[in-house]
Amino acid sequence: MTQTLTALLDKARHTSELTYEELLQLLSLPDEQIPELMAAADEVRQNTVGNQVHLRGIIEFSNYCRQHCCYCGLRADHSTASRYRLTPEQIIDTAAAAAKTGYRTLVLQSGEDPLIPAETIAELTREIKKLDVAVTLSCGERSYDVYRLWREAGADRYLIKQETADPALYKCIRPGHTLQERLQCQKWLKELGYQLGSGCMIGIPGQTVEILARDLQLMKEMNTDMSGMGPFIPHPQTPLKSGTTGSISMTLKMLAAARLYMPWLLLPATTALASLHPKGRELALRAGANVIMPNVTPEHVRSMYQIYPGKLNTRDSMTDYYNRIKDIVESEGRTLATDFGHSMHPAFQL
Ligand code: SF4
Repeated sequence: MTQTLTALLDKARHTSELTYEELLQLLSLPDEQIPELMAAADEVRQNTVGNQVHLRGIIEFSNYCRQHCCYCGLRADHSTASRYRLTPEQIIDTAAAAAKTGYRTLVLQSGEDPLIPAETIAELTREIKKLDVAVTLSCGERSYDVYRLWREAGADRYLIKQETADPALYKCIRPGHTLQERLQCQKWLKELGYQLGSGCMIGIPGQTVEILARDLQLMKEMNTDMSGMGPFIPHPQTPLKSGTTGSISMTLKMLAAARLYMPWLLLPATTALASLHPKGRELALRAGANVIMPNVTPEHVRSMYQIYPGKLNTRDSMTDYYNRIKDIVESEGRTLATDFGHSMHPAFQL
């Protein structure tokens, strides 16, 4: 039986033990009830992870990829894409500038580039750790041994989204791969002591509200520490080019439901949402988000990392961009964190 929204949110304020049906009810709310949901999520965010917003500077160091994900503009089949690969020196210089600007976490992100040896990424991790920052890697599906090499080099976190909790949809959007393989990677990462970043796109063709509720359950089952959830934006050079852009309302509902269901989460206000709505970051911060991931990739290649088109870009200097994000955070009555911003999952230990 469906409860009133007030009763359900009262329950959610006191316990995160929401059932599948309750998650479904939250995700099915009409637009006029979203502010009430966001207010409850914001209250839980304030009472659990506090007022601070954690910044993660992303360095997109290569846009070569051997994979064929149907939603992604970097897929190997996109033969006319302009490709680049930063040199280790460029990556270290960028990391040093970002650390000097104030970033306490740097994210090294790339496609699955077969020409960058695993040892190179290990060496980059060792060098960047000397800057007194936390390091997140986001370099796709690798073997257990490679994940171990990178963890031993000092990587703190790994970002590898589940993409969807539905095995059939997963096979459609990532041809040749299974959800089971993806979850195996996540299990290895947890076993090795990484903080795990997962997530999914909102509005990918074939997705249903039932699948989204299951997405939240799967993230909780996997003990996810961070979850990146932004709207799907169709890329014209991909098989999903005719898909409809993901809804901002559903994205906000997913963020708020995630905060209520997994209060410890590091929850980014994604660039995808900010690319679709001029106040996308502010809206996400009001829906329970507590992370922003500004792009610090060198400007001469930044526009080439196009998983989706129309990605928010800036020509600001690194310092000006940092200060602009700080202004957004402070205008929402929040403060920038100055620590590493490690996981707040109850089971996490450094
Ligand atoms: S989503 Fe990642 S693995 Fe898939 S094609 Fe894009 S860059 Fe490659």
